Amino acid sequence: MCNVMDGKEASMILKKRIKKKINQDGITPCLAVILVGDNEASKVYIRNKKKACEDAGIKFIFTNFPDTISEDLVIEEIKKLNNDKDVNGILVQLPLPKGFDEGRIINTIDPVKDVDGLTYPNVGNLVLENECLVPCTPLGVMELLKMYNVSLKGKNVCIVGRSNLVGKPLIQLLLQRDATVSICHSKSINIKDYTKMADILIVAVGHPNLITKDMVKDKVVVIDVGINKEGNALIGDVCFDEISKKASLITPVPGGVGPMTVACLLKNVVKAYEIQNR
Ligand code: NAP
Repeated sequence: MCNVMDGKEASMILKKRIKKKINQDGITPCLAVILVGDNEASKVYIRNKKKACEDAGIKFIFTNFPDTISEDLVIEEIKKLNNDKDVNGILVQLPLPKGFDEGRIINTIDPVKDVDGLTYPNVGNLVLENECLVPCTPLGVMELLKMYNVSLKGKNVCIVGRSNLVGKPLIQLLLQRDATVSICHSKSINIKDYTKMADILIVAVGHPNLITKDMVKDKVVVIDVGINKEGNALIGDVCFDEISKKASLITPVPGGVGPMTVACLLKNVVKAYEIQNR
C-alpha cells in the first residue's frame, strides 16, 4: 500500500548514513547496556540493539545482573561506566524489576552518556531547546515524519499517551517544529474531540485497536507507536485496516516506529561520542 510509512526501509537508510559517518570519521563509539533480571521482551530488544550497533561499527558491551542484585551494586556499575573514557553511551534497559528505584538508577548515568535521554538534565534541556540527548522513540517518530516530508508548521498534532518516554518528549519536539499540539491521556474526556481535529495523530498508549476510523479525519497522518501482543502477533494501538483507507500516511505495527527507535539509538550513541570528544 503506497500510504504506508515503511519504518524498516527508513531505518535502513538512517543506519546506513550512521555507518558511513562512523567509517568516514574513523571512530569506534561504544554503548554499554545493563539489564537487571531476565525479562524476555527486554532480551529481544537488547539482541536487536546489539546487532544494529555491531552492524554500524559501534562497540557493544552487555552486563546482565540477576534481579537479586542490590540497587547499590547497579549504581556502582553505572559509576564505573561513567568514568570509563572508552564508553560513550550507557543504557539501562527498562522496565527494572520491582523494588528498584528507576529514577535513582537512571539519574546516576552521566547526562552526556545518557543515550535514552531520560536524566533530569536531558529532560530539562529538551524543554529549553538546548543541546541534549533525546529519547530514541520520539526521535524516531520525528525522523520518520521528516523522511516522508510531513510538514508540521501550524499543523494540529494530537498525541495520545503522556509517558515520560514517548508522549512528553514528543510535545517538545513538535513545538520546536511549530506544530500546535494537544495531548490526551487516560483521564481525558472524549478523546475523539481531539483526535478528529488532528492533521497528524500520534498514538502511544499500549491498548490494542484503541483508535477507530470514526475518530480520525480524512487524509490524516497516523503514527502508531503502540506494540501489543495478540496471540503470536504484534499489533498497534490503531485499527490499521480501517484507518489506512482514510489516512494519507500511516505506520504499520510491526515495521513502523520500532525499527526507527533502534536506528535513533545508534544516532544518539554517535552524538554522545561527539559531545564527549569535542
Ligand atoms: P506508558 O508509560 O504505559 O504510558 C501510556 C500512556 O497512555 C499514559 O499516558 C496513559 O495515561 C495513556 N493511556 C492509557 N490508557 C489510555 C486510554 N484508554 N486512552 C488514552 N490514553 C490512555 O506507555 P509507553 O511506555 O509510553 O508505551 C506506550 C506504547 O508504546 C506501548 O504499547 C509500548 O509497548 C509502545 N512503545 C513502543 C516503542 C517502539 O519503539 N515502537 C517504544 C516505546 C514504547 P495516564 O498517563 O493517564 O496513565
